[in-house]
Amino acid sequence: MSETDGTEGKPTTIYLDHGATSWPKPPGVSDAVASALIRHGGNPDRGTYQMAVETARAVRSARGGIASLLGVSSAKDLVFQPGCTQAMNLVLAGLLSAGDRVVVGFSEHNAVARPLHRLAQRGVEVVAVSATPSGIVDVDEMEREVRRAPTRAVICQHTSNLSGAIQPVADLTDIAHENDAIMIVDGAQAGGHIPVDLSALGVDAWGCSGHKGLLGPQGIGVLYLREGCEPDELVVGGTGAGMSEEPLQPKVRPERYEAGTMNTPGILGLGAAAHWLAEHGSAQRGLEEALTRRLHEGILGIDGFTVLGPKPGEPRVPIISAVHESEDTGRIAFLLDRQYGIACRAGLHCAPWAHRAFGTLKSGALRFGIGYGNTSEDIDCTLDALRRIVGGLE
Ligand code: PLP
Repeated sequence: MSETDGTEGKPTTIYLDHGATSWPKPPGVSDAVASALIRHGGNPDRGTYQMAVETARAVRSARGGIASLLGVSSAKDLVFQPGCTQAMNLVLAGLLSAGDRVVVGFSEHNAVARPLHRLAQRGVEVVAVSATPSGIVDVDEMEREVRRAPTRAVICQHTSNLSGAIQPVADLTDIAHENDAIMIVDGAQAGGHIPVDLSALGVDAWGCSGHKGLLGPQGIGVLYLREGCEPDELVVGGTGAGMSEEPLQPKVRPERYEAGTMNTPGILGLGAAAHWLAEHGSAQRGLEEALTRRLHEGILGIDGFTVLGPKPGEPRVPIISAVHESEDTGRIAFLLDRQYGIACRAGLHCAPWAHRAFGTLKSGALRFGIGYGNTSEDIDCTLDALRRIVGGLE
């Protein structure tokens, strides 16, 4: 069995990589994806024949359901994007220009860190603030930095894809607005895993993957833009509204930010997932919380492990990242997969800034993401396997 050969070993029976992408999907999602290929043909908001009109109606209904799940009162303010990466690129490139100053959380994912790095090369000043030991952005430092000089935007992830910490987004939004800055949030790991009410939160822009906690298919995500927050478009082209002789992108939402043929299978799948979450989300979150705590306490009970971020019982999303004092986390992940059929992820998780803050840039961490479909047996099997691996019994 080789560490580079992905085909050998025990097949995956326990899936604990929900932080990367959720699997399996709840009832209704794959049927909705298939319905886009079987029943909902035509191009939504393009043709006027019955099938295209019906498909446009299905897309509208999906948008409405997702908006209502996320507390967005006007569904046109929620635009479909291929994912959170694209949503963050749109917002950052569309709102910031040379001479702007932004203050950003210490633990941003590369979906934010890399576009910001590119903007910094083009003259945007990027100031990063540090964190408490639990991996929570230091609110006082954020406030000091925002007050220090005119600031165009405060940027922070809603929850961490490394430590699972939930960031104080409401406080940061107040700080931003009191200082005439806009608040931009990467919500990739928040949607579905914690209740999100974007109107109440008051943020200006919030992006989210559809395929993680929102339980939809890959290739679809959403971007909420508060009315009045008007980034330049990242992509311009054909839309279902606002046709004119001049080749100008229409300014109406959502079409302005949705040029090109829509991902109807992804949208309908995400709509079905939102429908499921509206009914079962609260019970699912309760289960995730209990399983996360079970795993967290179990890992802390195994010699040599530490867990990054909040302590057991403190608020977090269902992500547990652990390091071991002597065992390589890449080797542990490999053995979990090949010997036990347990899927989790080692490495830097596209979050080198966060690893630097935790001092784990060299070692990386072993990340377990809990979600739909997991059971307490999954957690207990994983803990048994970890005990055997670090005890040399694998
Ligand atoms: N932001 C965070 C915090 C993430 O964890 C991820 C995905 O891992 C992303 C952004 C990128 O999301 P997407 O896969 O939807 O582009």
